Amino acid sequence: MLQDIKRHKTQSVKVGNVTIGGGAPIVVQSMTNTDTADLESTVEQVATLFEAGSELVRVTVNNEESAAQIPYIVDRLNKMGLDVPIVGDFHYNGHRLLRQYPDCAKALAKLRINPGNVGFGEKRDRQFAEMIEIAMEYDKPVRIGVNWGSLDQSIQAKLMDENAQLAEPKTAEEVGLEAVIQSALSSAKYAESLGLGKDKMVISCKVSQVQELVAVYRQLAQRCDYALHLGLTEAGMGSKGIVASTAALSILMQEGIGDTIRISLTPEPGAPREKEVIVGQEMLQTMGLRSFTPLVTACPGCGRTTSTFFQELAQKIQTFIRTEMPTWREKYPGVEDMKVAVMGCIVNGPGESKHADIGISLPGTGEAPTAPVFIDGKKAKTLRGEGIAEEFQELVQSYVDQRYG
Ligand code: SF4
Repeated sequence: MLQDIKRHKTQSVKVGNVTIGGGAPIVVQSMTNTDTADLESTVEQVATLFEAGSELVRVTVNNEESAAQIPYIVDRLNKMGLDVPIVGDFHYNGHRLLRQYPDCAKALAKLRINPGNVGFGEKRDRQFAEMIEIAMEYDKPVRIGVNWGSLDQSIQAKLMDENAQLAEPKTAEEVGLEAVIQSALSSAKYAESLGLGKDKMVISCKVSQVQELVAVYRQLAQRCDYALHLGLTEAGMGSKGIVASTAALSILMQEGIGDTIRISLTPEPGAPREKEVIVGQEMLQTMGLRSFTPLVTACPGCGRTTSTFFQELAQKIQTFIRTEMPTWREKYPGVEDMKVAVMGCIVNGPGESKHADIGISLPGTGEAPTAPVFIDGKKAKTLRGEGIAEEFQELVQSYVDQRYG
């Protein structure tokens, strides 16, 4: 059951086949970490991110080699049947690359411009304007993406000077956050004055601290109706990155703020890049905002679960579901809302399993070695012996066939 949260009203922006803002479902996006000039590895990673559920994928376009490869990357993805909008991330030399490589501009679905990194002094406005003009020439939307770590220093200096004149000056931190907001809003206004429509603009103001991100986006939501891209920048590694991103983004999304999200996780060595996509999806799904994949409810286990069998089964079932999802999505409409439970003992096992569409209550310490399975709230079967895991997986598959087929 999806939550009916009143969303902050924003403009709707089409990015390829995806809509951001205007009340559309919150879009999950991601970014590659391959060298964009390396076509093979970039195509492979984009495909993996897309198949994991990333609805847009951003790639860095940092030099001529990368810009030259963009049309070939997009072409290869199209030939693979992957209709994924590719966003180009530009800093410092975007105006030049886009002019020199018009096929790059044509192939991209959106341009990301960082107003803090488009040049200094009088070059800043000129180069920013050039990028906006190119976006309009090729009918591409842009994201004006401000980042705390690359903030336009002239705005910061101006606000600091003004603040110093106040009878009660604000803290340096407050002035810094206002500078982030003003950088995005003044750049968006400038883009509008050049002719770029609000329906072609997404804005973001990324900072790396939870409370600051919440404060900044609450302000943005009050002060504009541009579509908003949410993300905690440099969220960090492992559980810290996941927790910090979830803390910040869930507060904002609960208040109806945010039209697209990206989870900026630092991948642990060897960890798959698509983890950031799965975290974004699980965030939206556990909040009841969107459904992507059936999620397994499992208890944490305790002294009543003395073997690792129950953890292994919970993991096995979740992996089975994720692996099957690309096929299930096509074949079984609505399957993404299915609820599965894998529980460790009789204390909460039968109760939680009854709340799920299909659930299993494994035997805890001292219980008879049997595992009742509950389907649609009723006890349907009791599994026992060595093959419990395989049999439960088969029951999940046949439940999906019958209910969603
Ligand atoms: S359901 Fe049983 S095994 Fe799981 S946490 Fe509760 S008491 Fe422990």
